[in-house]
Amino acid sequence: MTAVVKSAAKRQVVAASAASSTVQFGADDVREMRAALLKWYETHKRDLPWRAARDPYRIWVSEVMLQQTRVAAVLEHYRLFLAAFPTVQALATASEPEVLALWSGLGYYRRARMLHHAAKMVAEELAGAMPRTAEELRALPGVGAYTAAAVASIAFGEPVAVVDGNVERVLARVAGWSAAEARFATRVGRFAGTLVDPERPGDFNQGMMELGATVCLPRAPLCLGCPWQPWCRTRGEHAVPARRAQQRQHSARVVWLRGTGMRQQVRLVQRAADASLMAGMWELPSYEAKAAESPEFTVRHAITVTNHIVDVYVRNGAVRGPESEWVPVSELSQRALTGLTRKVLRRVGCMP
Ligand code: SF4
Repeated sequence: MTAVVKSAAKRQVVAASAASSTVQFGADDVREMRAALLKWYETHKRDLPWRAARDPYRIWVSEVMLQQTRVAAVLEHYRLFLAAFPTVQALATASEPEVLALWSGLGYYRRARMLHHAAKMVAEELAGAMPRTAEELRALPGVGAYTAAAVASIAFGEPVAVVDGNVERVLARVAGWSAAEARFATRVGRFAGTLVDPERPGDFNQGMMELGATVCLPRAPLCLGCPWQPWCRTRGEHAVPARRAQQRQHSARVVWLRGTGMRQQVRLVQRAADASLMAGMWELPSYEAKAAESPEFTVRHAITVTNHIVDVYVRNGAVRGPESEWVPVSELSQRALTGLTRKVLRRVGCMP
């Protein structure tokens, strides 16, 4: 759950109350906490490409990519995506397969479709000008409270607090709330809103997210390096919610190949347009191996809470099937491939 709460900078005492605990920070504490976080952020922030500019479109793209995806996985996708679609107009005029092809590997493809849809709305209905407030940004398809607050505060300096899972964890620990108490979005959102720096909300919010991502870690927070240690009620002594159990799923796929060198082709099938996951994307056909056959290799691929263990068979020759197509290997990078397909095709040398 996320929440956006307007800054209450004039408030003299900030109360963060919970069912079983009440935390109070005086105005001086709040001022010092803001200064400590901003100073720490200046020194420790990672050098990430979307931090180089205040362009709302670039910040928007980065925030959408970063949802449920690690920074390391986003970096190359972000570079290629912005090279292909440097402006909101460029994204708006692209076709959906072009957008999905560049999103391939990031997963959660609904994000890409909604981003594309929203870019069209900005280009066609707002003459290419991004909305400037969190409230207006939320009117765009797929833009939730978190993304709206991030873009509005970082690009336009609106004093609204960003609350994602990392920020929620930091605030819960600082306030001394249990995981159950912190689950109330309004409580966490109100606390975040009172802390956000009205002068530098963008840097403050990025500092909060950075603190959660690099110091106040879920399982072993690095409290000795934390700028908020003097105010923190838990300092690492915090109950951690149990991990969600991962499911395992075993399956098999086949890489059908024909031709050689630049003329080599691979057989792909397209997922149904109304599939609940990865609709319309291209993937390797599934395979029913005979008892005597052994896979060339096995790959592991995690999607949400499922660990897929996939046996991969490589076969040559002519094969036909409904909704499938021979695709030249030279054109694979322009196809909207599922992450698993990309992983396997790289492994067999069909893609760089
Ligand atoms: S002192 Fe430790 S637990 Fe508290 S906010 Fe900092 S890193 Fe998190």
